Amino acid sequence: MQQETDIQYLPGVGPKRAELLKKELGIESVADLVRFYPFRYVDRSTLTPIASIASDAAYVQFRGQVQRRKLWGQGSQEIASLDGAPPRFSLVKRMTVIVADASGEMELVFFKGVRWAYEKLRPGEAFLFFGKPQVFNGRINFVHPEVDELSQANYGGTGTLTGVYNSTEKLRNAGVTDKVMQKMMHAALGEILPTLRETLPAYVLKEKGLCDLSFALRNIHFPKDSASLERARYRLKFEELFLLQLSLLKAKYLRSRAENGIPMPSVGPAFKACYDALPYQLTGAQKRVIKEIREDMRSGRQMNRLLQGDVGSGKTMVAVLSALIAAGNGYQACIMAPTEVLAQQHYRNIQKYLSPTGLRSALLTGTSKTAERREIHAGLEDGSISLIVGTHALLEDNVIFRKLGLAIIDEQHRFGVEQRSKLWSKTSDGRPPHVLVMTATPIPRTLAMTFYGDLDTSVIDEMPPGRKPVVTMSAGEGKRAALYKFIGEQIALGRQAFIVYPLIFESEKMDYKNLELGFEEVVKAFPFPPYKTAIVHGKQTPEDKDFNMKAFVEGRANILVATSVIEVGVDVPNASVMVIESAERFGLSQLHQLRGRVGRGSEKSYCILMTGQKLSKESRKRIELMCATENGFELAEEDLRMRGPGDLEGTQQSGMPISLSIASLAKDGLILSDARAYASAVLEKDPYLQESDNALLLNELRKEKYNQKDYSKIS
Ligand code: ADP
Ligand code: MG
Repeated sequence: MQQETDIQYLPGVGPKRAELLKKELGIESVADLVRFYPFRYVDRSTLTPIASIASDAAYVQFRGQVQRRKLWGQGSQEIASLDGAPPRFSLVKRMTVIVADASGEMELVFFKGVRWAYEKLRPGEAFLFFGKPQVFNGRINFVHPEVDELSQANYGGTGTLTGVYNSTEKLRNAGVTDKVMQKMMHAALGEILPTLRETLPAYVLKEKGLCDLSFALRNIHFPKDSASLERARYRLKFEELFLLQLSLLKAKYLRSRAENGIPMPSVGPAFKACYDALPYQLTGAQKRVIKEIREDMRSGRQMNRLLQGDVGSGKTMVAVLSALIAAGNGYQACIMAPTEVLAQQHYRNIQKYLSPTGLRSALLTGTSKTAERREIHAGLEDGSISLIVGTHALLEDNVIFRKLGLAIIDEQHRFGVEQRSKLWSKTSDGRPPHVLVMTATPIPRTLAMTFYGDLDTSVIDEMPPGRKPVVTMSAGEGKRAALYKFIGEQIALGRQAFIVYPLIFESEKMDYKNLELGFEEVVKAFPFPPYKTAIVHGKQTPEDKDFNMKAFVEGRANILVATSVIEVGVDVPNASVMVIESAERFGLSQLHQLRGRVGRGSEKSYCILMTGQKLSKESRKRIELMCATENGFELAEEDLRMRGPGDLEGTQQSGMPISLSIASLAKDGLILSDARAYASAVLEKDPYLQESDNALLLNELRKEKYNQKDYSKIS
């Protein structure tokens, strides 16, 4: 049997299970199967006395003798089995079985496979049971435990650690238990291990001290002991991260070798004029980043750079100076923002920087008037507009640049891959524009290496001087009156306040209700006149949203009640209070983004995290951390550690380049760094992986998962 053989031909699988494995777990071939690893291991060498099984225990194994069985029908009516006659299983909804050992009794519950369990679990006979305890009506029981004969040895050999596999409802219902999974693994390994091909060259195994693939696969499924499991795991994690980094870096290397970028040799007069007129000194970080960008644009290679900088770190300035470099070399630049409000805000901010340069700029959004549009289109085509700021409207077909040399994208995760590539195609001379992506979402290092592994990154890790820290505190419902009093005082000082409500897809209806109730309460506490409260949420028409947002941005409304739509980028320097309702429901990165909406002016600012009464330990920790630090990277790292990458703000839309099957971006940062450095060293010596030593690697990188269309993020 080959690795590529369809899973259905594996003994014990068949077409039906194969179909399910494919649908539910994406397992199609024998190779896929053996690469589907246990997500945890249990020690089945020990028996737990029934009396000492704790309700919160993980998987436990115990021995029990069947005492009595009961069959239950609709509405929990007991179905008595008439003497001798077999019960009518079609009426049975559930079976409970009481088993006992010397220490006590335990209830087992079966909803499915009742006939089988009934026939097997005869009173008086003893078995090994294995499962995870649950609590029902205050009592511990086991739902669908695994049942083993007392004599049955651990499947798969000598070890006592047994793999537990991720499964789904459908698979379990189809009888694909852990035990069945183990049987299939055993069969699959038996088929393919003898002819297994290594994926890593011998020199890699040697230099990195890794075990070979055959050892790794055997021990990841059926560990000989915990040391072997550790070696197996390390090898597989390294392999996964190394190949991924190799593919990312290879793309980057090849691109950086190609001389297909637009060379921009000089900075030009506009840059100088703007620079000289700046009302402040650039921070060291801004200077460094501008230098990096400058080098890229000069190099003759296409720039693909990610610019990370916390909210308020001064990315706009960097964007403008980069655009002026393009202008200084006779090229146009565009800045694309995800929303109308943000595009307008950018445009306004940029005007003051541009005025000393005498360059023409324009704003193009969905609401631009036809006549204005026509003029802008003309200006872009004849090259008289040097810098255009806009929304998705920039992507429309009739927008054509004379010479687009630089595309700057703010908050890139809001843009899809196709939209981006559309923008690149607007260039006239066939050479792709330089690309600068800006994000205010601090991305933990391990994520950045993976999501943006093929980009160069610059980080503005220093705030402009004079920014005051935002005073952050948490409060419970009991403090609401005091909160309103405080907001009133701030308004009396001429400031404004945000009040933000969570809006989560799964609880959308309730969340909107809370938002509405909250709004009513705020209006009651701050009646019109003299107060004015605006409200912004996703169900409003774009016009309503804009109207309300503008009222707040322009200072006509004192309070803005909103869902987290205001999260990204909105700048209201006069706002000094950010109240976050049900703060425990937000992730750290999101809380941090929200907090970044205040503290942008010269006034002292406050962020108040309103929390419910019963906080989980983890929520409490999040809230405490928010109060303790304003460092976005620290918060993002912690968020990653606590919630895993899937939940991280900004990563959902951008999508993982490849889903990892064993390594974790939250936990395996060290292996990742090592794998990346090593991949880089390998490519340094052999950028095209042409040497015979590297044939295995080249072969791996040909696999589909490394060659998906939307894989390379930028161009
Ligand atoms: P963000 O990175 O969030 O886009 P901005 O570019 O909007 O940040 O900058 C935030 C504020 O800081 C703006 O009002 C800007 O004028 C100001 N600013 C930017 N750079 C500096 C600097 N070096 N010194 C002082 N103020 C600065
Ligand atoms: Mg900004």
